[in-house]
Amino acid sequence: GFDESFSTPGQSFQREYTNLPPGSYRLEVQFYNGSQPLGRQSLASFWVEPPFWQNPLFQLILAVSGGLLIYAGFRWRYRKIEREKERLTEMVRQATHELEKKNTLLARLATTDELTGLYNRRFFMRAILQEVRRLARSRPGETLTLLMLDLDHFKMINDVYGHESGDRVLQFVARCLKSVLRVTDVSARFGGEEFVVMLPQTPLIGGKLVADKIRRIMEANPVERNGQEIHSTISIGMLTVSSPVEYTDDLVQQLLQRADIQLYRAKALGRNRVVVEGED
Ligand code: GH3
Ligand code: MG
Ligand code: MG
Repeated sequence: GFDESFSTPGQSFQREYTNLPPGSYRLEVQFYNGSQPLGRQSLASFWVEPPFWQNPLFQLILAVSGGLLIYAGFRWRYRKIEREKERLTEMVRQATHELEKKNTLLARLATTDELTGLYNRRFFMRAILQEVRRLARSRPGETLTLLMLDLDHFKMINDVYGHESGDRVLQFVARCLKSVLRVTDVSARFGGEEFVVMLPQTPLIGGKLVADKIRRIMEANPVERNGQEIHSTISIGMLTVSSPVEYTDDLVQQLLQRADIQLYRAKALGRNRVVVEGED
């Protein structure tokens, strides 16, 4: 079956078959006299073993180990991707955390005064706007008290003790306000040495108590710096509004102006005092 036809050996009686595919073979010779067949004889039967890689068992083992190898490869890739995913998730988590921290800081910076830690004017304006709107919608008898505060002769404190000492006094005002006020009250540094306080749901009597307490604390507690005692006083203008109030766009501005007028009355009357709108 290897050769298509019989070969004619001629002088040589040697045949070579290289590269026989595996299988069973029979070597057969035929004898001729001229073209007349004389007979045939089978010389040998033999079997060419398949090479080991064509062995079905080997092929099975190869297929199985190939499969295992591919599986292991996939597992490895999968693990790698999983690890990469975990790494990225962690990175995102950390970046988010950093961002949140920065946002919190930014929000704080945007709403607080750096020197005193009190709210800044911007924050206060938003807070009072909300409170005034709430007051305009509340039932009759609701009250809101506003204090406008300004340190007395503060320019002189700066001139005598220096700007740094002036800053310590401003920080002391902040501590004083924080110690006196309730959590629902809002105090802010309104400008240089001017402060503003909003006392929601506080009638005139209560407002006066708070204002005078602040004034007395300032008067009685000099700020110590470099072995010196810096005495300072504060003037306070106060006003209380009661509902019903009609909300208008300039209502907040009007209220602040009215508190300011009382503050200037306090200055004119000799400073270190609380002056209340409507009282002589
Ligand atoms: P009055 O009793 O009439 O309020 O007098 P005053 O001197 O307090 O008022 P004036 O407006 O003349 O001066 C305010 C001073 O406050 C001037 C300014 O240098 C000072 N000042 C404003 N902001 C700061 C600050 O952040 N730190 C310090 N140390 N001083 C400040
Ligand atoms: Mg002043
Ligand atoms: Mg001032």
